[in-house]
Amino acid sequence: MKQVGTCIAGAGIIGLSLALELHRRGRSVLIVDQGRAMQEASWAAAGMLAAEDPENPPVLTPLSQLSRTLYPAFLARIESLSGISVALRTSKTLQQMHISTATELSLLNAAQLAQLAPGLVPGHRPWICLQEHSLDPRDLCQALPKASAAVGNEMLEYTPWLSIESGNLPLDGSKVRLQTASTTILADTFVLCTGAWAGQSSLLPGTVSPVKGQMLCIAQPSNLDLRHTIRTPEIYIVPRGDGRIILGATVEPSGFEKSTDEATLQSLLNQAAAVVPALAGATILDSWSGLRPGTADKLPVLGHIPNQPNVFVASGHYRNGILLAPATAHVMAQLICGETPSVELAPFSPERHLQTIESTAIPARA
Ligand SMILES: Cc1cc2nc3c(=O)[nH]c(=O)nc-3n(C[C@H](O)[C@H](O)[C@H](O)COP(=O)(O)OP(=O)(O)OC[C@H]3O[C@@H](n4cnc5c(N)ncnc54)[C@H](O)[C@@H]3O)c2cc1C
Repeated sequence: MKQVGTCIAGAGIIGLSLALELHRRGRSVLIVDQGRAMQEASWAAAGMLAAEDPENPPVLTPLSQLSRTLYPAFLARIESLSGISVALRTSKTLQQMHISTATELSLLNAAQLAQLAPGLVPGHRPWICLQEHSLDPRDLCQALPKASAAVGNEMLEYTPWLSIESGNLPLDGSKVRLQTASTTILADTFVLCTGAWAGQSSLLPGTVSPVKGQMLCIAQPSNLDLRHTIRTPEIYIVPRGDGRIILGATVEPSGFEKSTDEATLQSLLNQAAAVVPALAGATILDSWSGLRPGTADKLPVLGHIPNQPNVFVASGHYRNGILLAPATAHVMAQLICGETPSVELAPFSPERHLQTIESTAIPARA
């Protein structure tokens, strides 16, 4: 039996960022993960902090902008707690637009494009330049679990949660009782941060589902000076600044399988070479896939779960969870601690998807 202030299920970037933020507010935190920390979507991501992407749903803007503001302090804290550097790898993104979405934007001319990205073939669609950073999520995979442990947060890996009870329970003053295979956890609050798996839970059946992305890592050709991220409607090309370039990504409603296939990876390389011909035939260093937590409206699910006192969710970050982690941690910690969140959370409410559930004993699997 364990007793704790807040129990978080899911040790991806969302769960671990929230754990750090709750610790800052004086909460004791226990995180459970069905596998190892930071080995799912947060490991697979490209790491673009695409707060300004005009293709993002407009309602996401306040949360994106808050995250963008919080990012420097977020990284500085993780670095100082973990002793591991998490560098920003790029500081600009050249984005090719669908013509229909480009009318209000300041477009680059051919000379500007050639200067920013020598070797890029502009094609027939317009380009814009965004002041957007990227990082390598693998740096965070090293640093974030260490930072969480450094503040004293406890973590149980290979420990899926099995069921939860909340409400009027005779529980030694605790409000939530969580069951794993090996222990009972009594907590004041529980937060579901299980990414693509959140919709598997009976707390939020079907709200979040996996969307697979296949990715490729290639060696930067010696004749190519690529310093900025390049994003088109078909492909993104993210230089890491150390000789590696990431190409991504497919968008495949997939179930939970994470295979990659040669034909798809080759087509990613071909699409990249259509934009930057020097990439044709580049050496492939690695490939992988990950499961984005997708929702029907492409917005995260943040807030209190209806009919479940003291039970919250922060999942469904789809293509922007690396960007949105600091803001999600900030507003969720405010909500859990009884403060008014600094961003309006109504658009992200779990209620927009849910049929309510009456029972108090909720199994983890729907
Ligand atoms: C190919 C790809 C590219 C991407 N590129 C970007 C990008 O450039 N920029 C960006 O901002 N975002 C990007 N994303 C999206 C981003 O990776 C995700 O939105 C983000 O990582 C979600 O974080 P999370 O913590 O919610 O989920 P995850 O990192 O998946 O973590 C969820 C955790 O929950 C655990 N879990 C599941 N079920 C249970 C259970 N029953 N009990 C206990 N634990 C459980 C899992 O083991 C996992 O560790 C990309 C994603 C993919 C797949």
